[in-house]
Amino acid sequence: MTITTPRHAAATKPIDTAAIAALVARLDLEEKVALVSGADFWTTVPLEKIGLRAMVLSDGPAGVRGPLWDERSPSINLPSATALASSWDPSLAYRYGAVAAAEARRKGVDVVLGPTINLHRSPLGGRHFEAFSEDPELTGSLAAAYVSGLQDNGVAATPKHYVANDSETDRFTVDVHASERALRELYLAPFERTVTEAGTWAIMSAYNSVDGVTMSENDLLETPLNSEWGFDGVVVSDWTGVRSLGSAPASQDLAMPGPAPAWSAALVEAVRDGRVAEADVDRKVARLLALAVRVGALGEEALAPAPVDGVAFSREAETEGVVLLDNDGTLPLDASTLTRVAVIGHNARDSRTQGGGSATVLPEHTVSPLEGLRLALPEATIDYAVGAIVQEGVAELPLERLTNPRTGDPGLVATFLDADGAELFTEDRRSTALVWFGGDAPVTTASQLVLTTTYTPEATEQLRLGFATGLHGRLFVDGVLLVDEQPVVVGNDLGAALLAPPSATGAFAAQADVAVELRAEFDLSPSENGLGAISVTVGRAPDDSDPDALIAQAVEAARAADVAVVVVGTNSKVESEGWDRSDLTLPGRQDELVRAVAAVNPRTVVIVNSGAPVLLPWSDEVAAVLLGWFGGQEMGNALADVLLGVAEPGGRLSTTWAAALDDVPVLDVTPVDGVLRYEEGIHIGYRAWLRSGATPAYWFGHGLGYTSWSIVGGEVSGDVASGDARVSGTATNTGDRAGKHVVQVYAERPDSSVDRPVRWLVGSAVVRAGAGESVAWEVALPARVFAHWADGWQVEPGDVTLRIGSSVVDLVHEHVVTIAAGTSR
Ligand code: BGC
Repeated sequence: MTITTPRHAAATKPIDTAAIAALVARLDLEEKVALVSGADFWTTVPLEKIGLRAMVLSDGPAGVRGPLWDERSPSINLPSATALASSWDPSLAYRYGAVAAAEARRKGVDVVLGPTINLHRSPLGGRHFEAFSEDPELTGSLAAAYVSGLQDNGVAATPKHYVANDSETDRFTVDVHASERALRELYLAPFERTVTEAGTWAIMSAYNSVDGVTMSENDLLETPLNSEWGFDGVVVSDWTGVRSLGSAPASQDLAMPGPAPAWSAALVEAVRDGRVAEADVDRKVARLLALAVRVGALGEEALAPAPVDGVAFSREAETEGVVLLDNDGTLPLDASTLTRVAVIGHNARDSRTQGGGSATVLPEHTVSPLEGLRLALPEATIDYAVGAIVQEGVAELPLERLTNPRTGDPGLVATFLDADGAELFTEDRRSTALVWFGGDAPVTTASQLVLTTTYTPEATEQLRLGFATGLHGRLFVDGVLLVDEQPVVVGNDLGAALLAPPSATGAFAAQADVAVELRAEFDLSPSENGLGAISVTVGRAPDDSDPDALIAQAVEAARAADVAVVVVGTNSKVESEGWDRSDLTLPGRQDELVRAVAAVNPRTVVIVNSGAPVLLPWSDEVAAVLLGWFGGQEMGNALADVLLGVAEPGGRLSTTWAAALDDVPVLDVTPVDGVLRYEEGIHIGYRAWLRSGATPAYWFGHGLGYTSWSIVGGEVSGDVASGDARVSGTATNTGDRAGKHVVQVYAERPDSSVDRPVRWLVGSAVVRAGAGESVAWEVALPARVFAHWADGWQVEPGDVTLRIGSSVVDLVHEHVVTIAAGTSR
């Protein structure tokens, strides 16, 4: 079997440009401007006269939410991008895109707003979990595969955010200054591959500026995107990212959400009085119509996506992404020998299956590691202890403990009232975490929102009960006012205010199985709800008044157990869209908890539930460490599969994990006077670590399996100049069970006449083999992987050393490739 790095063919539906031009000619200026200015939060306008229906756009990218933020229309919650990237497997990314396509069509979506392919420049980046890697080659190959998986199934992808939106601080205004070389070789490179290899039908321009010009007006939208790469799709703005008419002559095609105030009537007027050429609008319209043809909104219906089992895929994708960082032989566990297992950690029960912000989807059910282990070990006694509190603010109340007073079913009633208290709109909901983004509810006209439910606590305990919102709210428990407050939203980020709002709570003594009536009222102000979006969560926060006791309980559970599984992690305030992280330390007293548990049980296995690097200062004191990421809705089942050896931990790090914050060579994400300078140039991630001489906790590419491998030979054939060079060899599974490995090929050029990374990834190949089997692998070596940018792509002649191995520092073979003079990329 030969496994090569796939290069996906562009998914192209031929576009009849003459027919599109004829349609454009039939539209008047108002119609054309209406089309490019968007209709509402998630749709474009229909133009019946030419047979164009509305197109629906939706986030993603780890599943597809659909135009409604509503738990009654659930979505598959796939593992987040860092989990997918850790698979290093483009064929998995392709299937991931295909699942997203099936989800999109099921929900009436034509355009998925993803994948997010900004780079992990600093581990403090708040949306790190949503992006793939610190490396442009790995990001690019996965991104192209994801895009092909979507578009081969008739749904448009929208790689985002073009470009240099690699952190969140001042995200609307930050002006990134990066050298042209860094932009070309790092930040633009993954976007380029989504165009040239996968033929993406859309791209999203970023909020930030690059070199002083906001991205929706930036020349980078034309060059290299259109003029060099041949992009013929639609540049969609990030939401509200079109700010002025300056974006009209730019290659910015669609302003969202609509009707975008900066275009709409202002654009009609600007064309009429000659400030903007009508041809500029026509070009945008033609691109939108081509997109419509591709997704089946104009002309022939779209291709029906291939049927997929999204739940099963979610489980498989997570096992492929789980990274086993350390293992003293404790893993895999033998289920037949386990009679008592301690499962410890707040995130073991209330796990995070996805990161926060616009990427949020609403799954029907999520399987926590606690539930996954209970299901996998029905005979064993599972002792659960929370150990340390991680959650900040309130989390929604469990559906099965709520009774809708109107229907008697699990859930609550949401009622919108007018200023006189008259009922305008009522709906039965199945979650206490509610977001209205458009839809039928009168969010812009009502004066009050009232939620009512009966809540029956499962345990007798001290809780804090309250709500999270930016609105003024009141919470009544059995008619008695418990909270009356408007939590203060910090900052002016709409996404953050809406999707991770602050909380207000009051003390509540819960009594097991004693029901209480909850009534929450929220004051709505039509002026503040102009965008048609509100978010409220009624929920509970755990009691953290005696943290020592929580650790002590966990230690007792661990002491009595055959194995202690501790799940540590971040919370919704740490990793989200809208802000960056301030450090990499696990929140709360989790480090102390792990050490205390490991001290009493040598078989302590730690699972990390984060989307991005955290510090693991106790890693030498535990038996094994697994990264479970934000593992999607099947996370608990997948982790049980890996812990018990039913599945191989398939992941390898797509980003370097630091041992200490101060060691991180590229960290800073705070603009100075509005400018964030990428002073490190082309040296980010492992390139920067190698250059700085610092040693991280775990290097890029690292990850263990349950078997061992020998990577043999490695032969270079073909010729770089003629574009058919490749390196190939065999990999032998030298262990006693089937497994997966990732063969990684790096290049070095210490004698180069230009500044180079110490070593850089040129390609990789996933291999799978049974015990004792050998399999062939091959990695293509297009000239471009050796090229550097200096006023164009240049390929320096001379010798390049290829180094082959299992991480950026675990290298077993060397080969020299000679590049002939005159080779071009
Ligand atoms: C995010 C985008 C997202 C859009 C629509 C923005 O705030 O940056 O990634 O697609 O909102 O939800």
